[in-house]
Amino acid sequence: MARITGPARFDSLSTLDNSRFIHHSSLINHNPPLLIQRAFAGALARWFKISGRDYPWRRTTDPYPILVSEIMLQQTQITTVLDRGYYDRWMKRFPDFATLAKASEHEILKAWEGLGYYRRARFLHKLAQTVVAAHGGIFPRDITAIRKLPGIGDYTAGAVASFAFNDKQPIVDGNIARVLSRIFNDVTPVDSTAGKKLLWQRATILVRASASARIHNSALMELGQTVCKSATPDCKSCPVKKFCAATDPASLPVKSKRTQITEVIEHVYFQQTAAGVLLEQETGSRRTGLWKLPALPVMKRLPKTLHTSTYTITRYRVTLHVHAAPSHQISLPSLHHSMIPLSDLTSLPMPSPYRRVLEALVKVRTQRDGITAGRASRRALPAR
Ligand code: SF4
Repeated sequence: MARITGPARFDSLSTLDNSRFIHHSSLINHNPPLLIQRAFAGALARWFKISGRDYPWRRTTDPYPILVSEIMLQQTQITTVLDRGYYDRWMKRFPDFATLAKASEHEILKAWEGLGYYRRARFLHKLAQTVVAAHGGIFPRDITAIRKLPGIGDYTAGAVASFAFNDKQPIVDGNIARVLSRIFNDVTPVDSTAGKKLLWQRATILVRASASARIHNSALMELGQTVCKSATPDCKSCPVKKFCAATDPASLPVKSKRTQITEVIEHVYFQQTAAGVLLEQETGSRRTGLWKLPALPVMKRLPKTLHTSTYTITRYRVTLHVHAAPSHQISLPSLHHSMIPLSDLTSLPMPSPYRRVLEALVKVRTQRDGITAGRASRRALPAR
């Protein structure tokens, strides 16, 4: 077994300038750093084989479930995806690219309901259609072909290539960025152009030095999730502590930009009759195809407020005011509005904040008025 001489920590690499990282093939062929890289990758892999968590997408090399999990987990916690059954339900309903490609947008959005960021579901749908139309239903192995698929960025391409095909492609997500910043003790902001370049170059060097890209990339992510945590890195039990150059790990990574939260106020109204509830289908936004309570028309005096709540989506904090229906409302406001029978509400794809308030209001109104599930058609005029 090769022996490491000299310092094992990665600060010996972190002092290298960008030009040497850009020509990282020479770095890889430079014996001492390569030995350190291999020793690092080996220590990480040994730890992962013992401590790595068992997920359904880690038990397979089929690119479809791996891709589904990667897209679902982009903005959502693993516990939500697994414990609330989203992943299992999706895989039962759409078990492969061909089934997903044939599904309607309505079915896709409904199955995604509650996960939010619905653009991901549309990307997945479009991607499945492209895999079927352009690749005969077989996901391509080649990284260049993978990158050309709709909705696939560098991270997702690297994840599928390494997890499904064991191709030595790098991945950098928030967890890996944090781990690498600390291991290299690098204060270059991770959201700057230079910082991103360094992270990807370092991830490339390390995955190439590993024996298995599948294990290495999974292990690096897992280390960030369970040991090298954001506020409280558990350095004492870290399997790569001897390689780590961080002097003040909790201060890393450095970020240049703070995400600005924008306050948004939404005014909508609730109109329930014996025919059902008036809803509006969204168009021209990230929520296209989803149903919500209709927007309140501009008016001098707002009708009575029935409910107020707040929710956050991406960089927006939304205060949702639900009002009583305007008294002059006499017809369906547009083709995108429909009176939905109560019995159909659960089958419509709807953002979670609306689903919660709608269910609460319908329950109260139904109990108060004794209204039963409406049987009227969706285009019936709302009663006043
Ligand atoms: S947990 Fe500590 S020792 Fe391990 S990589 Fe993170 S900062 Fe370094």
